[in-house]
Amino acid sequence: MQFDSNSSVPDDVAARAAELRAEINRANRLYYVEDAPKLDDAEWDGRMQELISLEEAHPELQTPDSPTQRVGATPSSGFDEVVHPVPMLSLGNVFDEDGFKAWYKRALDYLELESTPMVCELKIDGLALAITYRDGVMERAATRGDGERGEDVTANVRTIRSVPLRLEGAEGTIPPVMELRGEVFLPNSRFVELNAEREEAGLPAYVNPRNSASGSLRQLDSTETAKRPLDMFFYALGYVEGAEEEDNLSSHWSILKSMGAWGCKVNELARKVDSVEEVMDFIANTGEQRETLDYGIDGVVIKIDSISLQRRLGYVGRDPRWAIAYKFPAEQVETTLKAIHVNVGRTGALTPWAELDPVVVGGVTVGRATLHNKDEIARKDFREGDRVVVQRAGDVIPQVVEVSAKNKRSADSVPYEFPDACPSCDTATVQTEDEAVTRCVNATCPAQFERLLEHFASRGALDIEGLGERVAQDLTRLGFVSNIADIYRLHGRREDLLELDKMGETRVDNLLQAIEASRSQPLPKLLFALGIPGIGSESAEWLSRRFSSLAGVRDATEEELLAIDGIGPIVATALIDYFTIEQNRLVVADLIELGVNPIDDTPEPSADHPANGVTFVVTGRLETMSRSEAQSRIKTLGGKATGSITKKTNYLVAGAEAGSKREKAQRLGVRVINEDEFIAFMDGSVVPEREILAPDES
Ligand SMILES: [Zn+2]
Repeated sequence: MQFDSNSSVPDDVAARAAELRAEINRANRLYYVEDAPKLDDAEWDGRMQELISLEEAHPELQTPDSPTQRVGATPSSGFDEVVHPVPMLSLGNVFDEDGFKAWYKRALDYLELESTPMVCELKIDGLALAITYRDGVMERAATRGDGERGEDVTANVRTIRSVPLRLEGAEGTIPPVMELRGEVFLPNSRFVELNAEREEAGLPAYVNPRNSASGSLRQLDSTETAKRPLDMFFYALGYVEGAEEEDNLSSHWSILKSMGAWGCKVNELARKVDSVEEVMDFIANTGEQRETLDYGIDGVVIKIDSISLQRRLGYVGRDPRWAIAYKFPAEQVETTLKAIHVNVGRTGALTPWAELDPVVVGGVTVGRATLHNKDEIARKDFREGDRVVVQRAGDVIPQVVEVSAKNKRSADSVPYEFPDACPSCDTATVQTEDEAVTRCVNATCPAQFERLLEHFASRGALDIEGLGERVAQDLTRLGFVSNIADIYRLHGRREDLLELDKMGETRVDNLLQAIEASRSQPLPKLLFALGIPGIGSESAEWLSRRFSSLAGVRDATEEELLAIDGIGPIVATALIDYFTIEQNRLVVADLIELGVNPIDDTPEPSADHPANGVTFVVTGRLETMSRSEAQSRIKTLGGKATGSITKKTNYLVAGAEAGSKREKAQRLGVRVINEDEFIAFMDGSVVPEREILAPDES
């Protein structure tokens, strides 16, 4: 391998850096694109750290395709404009079988053919991107923009793990310059998590996955984008320079295959088909599968497969004649917006929501829907009594889209006035800097406390059954509790509790019993339950391990906190701030005083436990514990709990409806054990790693 002879970097260092880059890029591809990890996390971290230090010592070693560039660059002041060499056009739409047949017939008539192969693909509801690769290295990524001009989002796209920074493939199979196109999206599951995290951090929730993908991609600070779980499917070749008409690029289907071979993530549900019937089957199947996919789709794209036929067909106006989008019916319905309410969240954010005349959208009855924020209501002029259009955004959260075109307002209809004081405590509200969130900043706001109490008792926290929304409200409003610790004083007030609405003897006794039982919840649950900004269940576990007690966490210094793997400056500051507030210190002191003081004395994992050093994957629904509980037991015993099955997996713990992981395990020869076997294993009995076969089978 040749290195720049003018460079001051010693050859062996440069060679090592190149080797690390190649190895990490390859591991990333296996992990993010093929879902088959090769390096484990520690190995990956080790190599990454080594590469980062090499590049820090020799900045000239840094290349644009280095995996270190995925962590994000310094904030940019805006995005440069990119003129697309080949415009990114839109597609024409059809909405039913007749529409599709008419399109296909027009194309065939134009070509004077009886039939021609087509490719069916899912129409991902994300953001179109065009990525230029020069000599196989990612050079530039641009958004679609208006189709002619987009924005240069290269730094942000580098952070997306499923986008190769360098294409793979044998010499000559990758054109010297080309533009690949695809769709960036945020998986639905990650969207829900992201919004939960944002809520936790007191930030406004995103409207839908598409919106959050767009927001994430257009972050000025790419280190922010790097934290978002964006993903991408590649689906087209924009243009090619300097390549002969190769076989691997002569049809759309072969382009998809080639992109896959180069390490680009291509949606595996795409199919090559030959007839209208097959297209309609594909559309019907996709419609059925839609709900189970982890990304939003709004239809199916059908393309004529042959590239030379595509060229002959060309364009009508801005739409290609060789491709069409079959749009699924929008899941939108109209109903009446009965009233607008405002919720006060645990962190004081005021979130408006609509009370609707219940209506079925996408198979679910919807009686309330989000109105996002103050600005959204003003912009769309939602008023109580309006007929409105409701949809389930990305099939996840119901939202009010707009006022119906058929809406008739009465003479006394007035614009909605967003409250300028907290509906709970009447304290004047504050708008945050980005103007999106209106907030009650009263530390003793009853509504915030009610939400905190609910959170404290929720299943992921101290799991106090019977302490839900309504009881939390009653206990607070009737003055039974004014801080979290007060619930541990309730057992002395059984008679008073019986006076509560809908609380008979059994309910009161069950509640008191559940409260008592919650005393023995482990420390991580208690830390999470306190609702400290930024502390999720995982960071709660790290804190618990490190400091062993509530008092230990309270007294931790910033330096000690930052020394914990996984705790960054923002969380550390949030923790310090939390424990600086006198009120919070009192509550913690109160809890300790009342004996709610779990100690984390998790012993170092015993080296001779059979689970020590063993890798498990847990899947399906278990009867006696949740998947996260099973995973934490494995970790406690020194084992590893990973998400996907590889040859390195020792056991698959399969609960009910284990699905595809079970098949994969069997294919790879990974031992599948059931819940009983798993429990026995955790209790110390050895389960052989391979099934013992009868003599005639072996
Ligand atoms: Zn308030």
